[in-house]
Amino acid sequence: MIQVEEETADILEKSLSGERLTKEEAYELMLSDSLFSIGQAADILREKRCGADVSYVVNRNINFTNICQGSCKFCAYKVGRGSKSGFLMSPDTIQRLCKEAVESGATEICIQGGLHPEIDIDYYADILEAAKSKCEVHIHAFSPMEVFYMAEKSGLGAKETLALLKEKGLDSMPGTAAEIFDQEVREIICPEKISADEWIDIVKTAHRLGVPTTATMLYGHIERPEHRVNHLEILRNIQDETEGFTEFVPLSFIHYNTHLKSLYPNLHGASGLDDLRTYAISRLFLDNFRNIQASWVKLGKKLAQVALSYGANDLGGTIMDESISRAAGQKVDVLDEAEMRSLIAGAEKRPLKRNTLYQHLD
Ligand code: SF4
Repeated sequence: MIQVEEETADILEKSLSGERLTKEEAYELMLSDSLFSIGQAADILREKRCGADVSYVVNRNINFTNICQGSCKFCAYKVGRGSKSGFLMSPDTIQRLCKEAVESGATEICIQGGLHPEIDIDYYADILEAAKSKCEVHIHAFSPMEVFYMAEKSGLGAKETLALLKEKGLDSMPGTAAEIFDQEVREIICPEKISADEWIDIVKTAHRLGVPTTATMLYGHIERPEHRVNHLEILRNIQDETEGFTEFVPLSFIHYNTHLKSLYPNLHGASGLDDLRTYAISRLFLDNFRNIQASWVKLGKKLAQVALSYGANDLGGTIMDESISRAAGQKVDVLDEAEMRSLIAGAEKRPLKRNTLYQHLD
């Protein structure tokens, strides 16, 4: 007989009956010993929403520069301006990569990069135009941090910057750079990054302009359970207001080569169980998000498969290239569409090809 703590059982029952959980209840679940039951409840809610379908997108990631003037301590990707390994792609290179990807079946190009001191809004506009000029493809590009950076440099406001990017071909944005919204934690892990309020403002502005975004949370570093819950509540509130998020992607911190790891040698990232708990609670708490994405890049393929029974209903993209998690020490394999489908089928779910906006393509 499986034992479930009484308080956990009450919260799960409430969630399964369709009632919205409070922050306090989500916090209780974070501390509960009944992970298996939390996962079961999340799986039931996932199934109610999505049936047996687990979606994925055929896409390509393009990280156009690794030169960055930022100083995020969890980031092993960036290099300084004078570094021998530094690079900046030309719009022509990006155009070629997009064309290649589309020819091999990609429907989405995801473009993000470092905050290169020598690029300005014209460069970002040029790469959008280049990406769109030779092929029809959905451009999912630029974190709120990058939008803030180009707005600052150009002297335009966030709204004008986003409107310009949209005009040049931006279709949607990754909701990266959210990290964890608690300001004290941000001051340690990414002191120069936009504040939580700035992130929220840019994302809401994008949604109002008709540019949907994803939502993310970086966890498994120095944050505490209450920070995760507060973060989820902020996302849920934004979604209530704008309905502009396409999905939530919990991002498990990869610690190996990071400065944060040297500052906190005992940091080992979230455990597999903690990953599953975070996925399951996200499904239970974010009642206004249809899609919770298991990042196979962060979790590894096998744990990502398990996450599909802990609330996740999407396995993300085939991505073709990945450099950010790899730089942080994660062993990132290649994943083609056939393997993506096989991973989903192996998790006893039905693979479903989608586009960025979750329209089915199968
Ligand atoms: S996370 Fe982004 S902004 Fe921060 S240092 Fe890395 S590349 Fe730069």
